[in-house]
Amino acid sequence: MEIRIDNLKIRPRKLVFAEPVEKFPVLRELVERGEVGFHGDISTDLVATLVGTLVEVEGSLACTVVIPCSRCLQPAEQQLDLRIALAFTRQKMSEAGTGEERELTEEEVGLIPFEGDTIDLRSSLEQELLMGLPQHPLCADDCAGLCPVCGANLNRNRCDCPPPVFNGGLSALKGFKVTKE
Ligand SMILES: [Zn+2]
Ligand SMILES: [Zn+2]
Repeated sequence: MEIRIDNLKIRPRKLVFAEPVEKFPVLRELVERGEVGFHGDISTDLVATLVGTLVEVEGSLACTVVIPCSRCLQPAEQQLDLRIALAFTRQKMSEAGTGEERELTEEEVGLIPFEGDTIDLRSSLEQELLMGLPQHPLCADDCAGLCPVCGANLNRNRCDCPPPVFNGGLSALKGFKVTKE
């Protein structure tokens, strides 16, 4: 998942990869902890372009994640197709490692620094994928979730628990007064 800057000087380059999740250290850790799973490879369809001093990488990143449904906790499979738009800028020798802080100019905000003649996309793409993981995944749009009383999966079987009282918390607040000193 590397871009050679020299190659971009001639023309933009397509970056079509398909790599197993094991090659992404942070994702691999999540998988080992059982927080998320992946079906098949993580694939990219990107184009890298040299624009002045910037290297722009645009396109898509796709994979199939298996993640617990936020209502019933059963594994839910979701197809992710993320838009990718990254811009890399060469770290200036004078700034690298001086520890000197200065304000970023408007153009520099959001730029990812790189050194040397190649850019390794792996960690940036990994970050994009982590941010793109569904926050409230559902196994189905109409997932009935778990019974809050007995924990039964209501997609499979109904239980006989009385319906929960949702306004309990609010009525408790009614008698609450804020006193100012
Ligand atoms: Zn569900
Ligand atoms: Zn129940």
